[in-house]
Amino acid sequence: MLNRLKQRFAATTLVSAALTMAWRSHGRTNNELVTSLRRNGVYHSERVAEVMLAVDRADFCGSNPYLDSPQSIGYNATISAPHMHASALELLLPKLVNGSHVLDVGSGSGYLTTCMAHLVGQNGVVVGIEHIPQLVNLSLVNIRKNHSQLLDSGRLKIIEGDGRLGYPADSPYEVIHVGAAADSLPQTLVDQLAVGGRMILPLNANDVRNGQRYVQVDKVSDTEIQTKDLMGVIYVPLTSVEHQIGRR
Ligand code: SAH
Repeated sequence: MLNRLKQRFAATTLVSAALTMAWRSHGRTNNELVTSLRRNGVYHSERVAEVMLAVDRADFCGSNPYLDSPQSIGYNATISAPHMHASALELLLPKLVNGSHVLDVGSGSGYLTTCMAHLVGQNGVVVGIEHIPQLVNLSLVNIRKNHSQLLDSGRLKIIEGDGRLGYPADSPYEVIHVGAAADSLPQTLVDQLAVGGRMILPLNANDVRNGQRYVQVDKVSDTEIQTKDLMGVIYVPLTSVEHQIGRR
């Protein structure tokens, strides 16, 4: 009994230590934020540092851009916390190479979509799909502040649509990032993943008891995927427009 209690305590301490580290990664500037995330072990790669330094979070986030916490962007949506963006980039990095096709489902502010577009080089294609038209417009305004060339060259596009259906036109994708929590693994998105490709997504949107899980899905062959449970997370749901904002 005592051993069980000890184990539980150790597990809880570990989780809260990791969270405290992440949530302590604030900065007064973008540079400080990116440096502090690395110091706290949220990411290790130089390429992640470079892209996060090149994409100023303030262009995508009206309030407290350098705090390591999610911020509202309206329409019951948030720009995710910097530690989640950094983790996502680090997890997807091996697949974010020259010429990769990338789908960002629920692209919201456009921040991560822009970071990924920088990482796939001139021949890459990054599609952000977002179902709230006002957020599509907001993200385009955000991107235009300092990254217009990505839109003008066609390397990056933001599409208004239901991300649960993916975007077959530019599939298969080496990378699919889902920025909103699904109830279960969306087969349509698995179908649009390239063999050798990687998807990361929050699952168990409505599991109040166990909470949401961040999951990595690697497509090993046409018929086989490998999944890896990464950590507990809190995301807005992957849902319909009506459900998200209560009207159409
Ligand atoms: N990565 C984004 C996350 C935004 S929050 C960022 O950091 O800015 C999740 C986004 O998913 C919201 O913008 C929400 O409007 C969008 N969303 C939810 N359900 C969707 C769906 N079915 N299709 C497309 N977008 C969806």
